[in-house]
Amino acid sequence: MTDKLNWDELDFSYTEVPYRWRAYWKNGEWYKAGLETDPQLPIHEASPIVNYGQGVFEGNKAYGTKDGKIVLFRPDEFGERLNRGARRMAMPEVPVEEFVRACKEVVKANRDYVPPYGHNGAAMFIRPMLLGIGDHVQVSAAEEYLFTIYVTPVGPLYKGGLAPHHYIIDHEHDRVAADGTGNIKATANYASTLATAKRIQEAGYDDVLYLDPATHTKVDEFSSANFFAIEKDTNKFVTPKSDTVLPSITKKSLLWLAEHRLGLEVEEGDIKVDDFDRYAEAGAMGNAAVISPAGSVTYKENRHVFYSETEVGPVSQKLYKELTGIQFGELEAPEGWIVDVDED
Ligand code: PLP
Repeated sequence: MTDKLNWDELDFSYTEVPYRWRAYWKNGEWYKAGLETDPQLPIHEASPIVNYGQGVFEGNKAYGTKDGKIVLFRPDEFGERLNRGARRMAMPEVPVEEFVRACKEVVKANRDYVPPYGHNGAAMFIRPMLLGIGDHVQVSAAEEYLFTIYVTPVGPLYKGGLAPHHYIIDHEHDRVAADGTGNIKATANYASTLATAKRIQEAGYDDVLYLDPATHTKVDEFSSANFFAIEKDTNKFVTPKSDTVLPSITKKSLLWLAEHRLGLEVEEGDIKVDDFDRYAEAGAMGNAAVISPAGSVTYKENRHVFYSETEVGPVSQKLYKELTGIQFGELEAPEGWIVDVDED
């Protein structure tokens, strides 16, 4: 374990670690897969990723568990989602077993930088990327690709972790994904959100909540997390059913855990922005956001307070405990969700 880092003070920012993974593709084959030490990417100035944003990325994590292991959470799901994006962006797929092996190898190589158990949810963030490279001026698919993964120890995405956060609906610059939807993580998609992000952060909000692009009446998702709400009286866990949100693996997991572990009714459906009064609690969920409850959501100068501006609601707390309990080895995981990096 490195003594260079104060695990309790990590935020969601980059710390350089010794190794990254790289694999190259040309003429239908992956080659030269392995660990490298240089954090600079070796890519040509005319690479389609640089010129046209031909690239997709993922964001998963490795966790230091209670019994001293290092584990990945559902890495196959992240590999499959990367490949859905790859197909959409005319790129070759990374075989899922190879994706999982690469995640394990790069985490193991940097094991001294994996936050140990018990530091406010700190974990090692894993950023796989598949990029179109090579000299290729035309607007057409690259003939060469780079699959690369960097890892870096992180703390919570939004300051304060499991505490109420303040969000705003502000679609002056709507999120425009490369395919017109949010349902792939493409390298170019996110840049269209940056102007809004800058403005709302300066105004003191933690994130932007986007509405559906067609009618602007229903909640879609946050800039890098899905949305959930807990219905008053029934405690039903509701999350938007939309094909313009990224299909979050945290959402998929929480839908299952809410139903099977907490015995809640669950629904993927419409959450109208005019119906916020129907919900007792709400929040953001994602691999980086974990569960970040909404203290308030501001819309057209109207600040709607959900459970409380200072306290976290009971259902959000239970969901957080269940999810992080599985990730950090405190609770039994459903079959296949947890992969020990040191086991074959
Ligand atoms: N939505 C967007 C736009 C995201 O970028 C992310 C994660 O980065 C999520 C939702 C949450 O997805 P996941 O739970 O798979 O991390």
